Amino acid sequence: MPQYALEIKQLNKVYPNGFAALHDVSLNVPQGAFYALLGPNGAGKSTTIGVLCSLIPITQGEVWVFGVNLQQNPSQAKQYLGVVPQEFNFGMFETVWDILIQQAGYYGIGKTEASQRAEHYLRKLGLWDKRKSVSRTLSGGMKRRLMIARALMHNPKILILDEPTAGVDIELRRSMWDFLSEINQQDGVTIILTTHYLEEAEQLCKRIAIIDKGRIVKDTDMKTLLSQLNFETFVLDLTEPQASRQALEQPGATYKWLDAQTIELTIQKGTSLNQALQPLNNANLQLASMRNKTNRLEELFMHLVERNLD
Ligand code: ADP
Repeated sequence: MPQYALEIKQLNKVYPNGFAALHDVSLNVPQGAFYALLGPNGAGKSTTIGVLCSLIPITQGEVWVFGVNLQQNPSQAKQYLGVVPQEFNFGMFETVWDILIQQAGYYGIGKTEASQRAEHYLRKLGLWDKRKSVSRTLSGGMKRRLMIARALMHNPKILILDEPTAGVDIELRRSMWDFLSEINQQDGVTIILTTHYLEEAEQLCKRIAIIDKGRIVKDTDMKTLLSQLNFETFVLDLTEPQASRQALEQPGATYKWLDAQTIELTIQKGTSLNQALQPLNNANLQLASMRNKTNRLEELFMHLVERNLD
C-alpha cells in the first residue's frame, strides 16, 4: 500500500492569461489524515482543488492518489476521490434522491447498493425527510449537505471539501464537523478541506498546510504550529468600572486598559496565566470573565502571511 493518500509534487499552475496561481506546491497527505489547507482569499486553494478534481489542467508537476498518477490514470484515481466543490453543481430540478442514485450510476453501483448508501447518508446528514424534494427548494445548508452525500456515494477513500462550511450557520457547522470527524475516525476516510475559518481547522485537523500567494508557507501538525505562537492575547472583563486606571506590571505580560472595566492582556510565551493575573490580584481588581481576543491560530496566521484576513 502506498504511504500517502495524496501526494502533490511541485505543482505549478499558470492560467491562460499568464497569471501564476501555484508555485511549486508540494504536499504529502498521510492515509487517514484530517488535513486542512488554509489560506486567505486568492491564495490558491480552489486552484489546487480544481487540479485534484481534474477541472483545471496542470501546468507542471504531478498528483498521485493512493499511488495512482492522476494525469496518467484519471479514471482509476477518481475512484478514490470524492470532491465537494464550493458551487452547487447538481440539477436544480431533480429530487435529492435522484441526484444521489444517478451519481452512484456514474460509478457503476447497482440500484440496491445505491439505495442503501443514499438512505445511509441522507439519514446521517439530516436530509432523509427531504429525499423527495426538488433540490432547488432546499436551504443553502441542506444543499451543502447534499453535495457531501453525493461525493460519498462511491465510497471514496479521500474526501476533499472546498470551504465546506462557507455561509453555514454555527450550529450546522458543528454538526457537519461531527459528521466529518465520524467518517474520518470510523470509516477511515482521509479528509482534506480548505477553509479560511481558522477555528474550523483548529477544531478538526491534526495536520495543516498554509498557502499564501500560491506558495506553501507552512506544512506541519497543529500542535507544533500552535506551540510556535509567541504570545497570546486575552480580554479581561472586571466586575466593576474603575475610577482610576492603575498601571499594572509584570515581566512577560502587558496590560492595556480598553475602558474603565476592560483590560487587554498580552502574555509572552513562557509566562503563566497565574503570573500574569497576579498584578490584578495585588490591585484588588475582581475579574468577571476572560476570553481569547482572537483565535490563536488566527494570530499565528496573520503573522505568517503578514496581512489581515478578509
Ligand atoms: P482561493 O481559493 O484560495 O481563494 P483561487 O485558487 O480561487 O484562490 O485563486 C488563486 C489566484 O488565481 C487568485 O489570484 C485568482 O484571481 C487567480 N485565478 C483563479 N482562477 C483564475 C482564472 N481562471 N484565470 C486567471 N486567474 C485566476
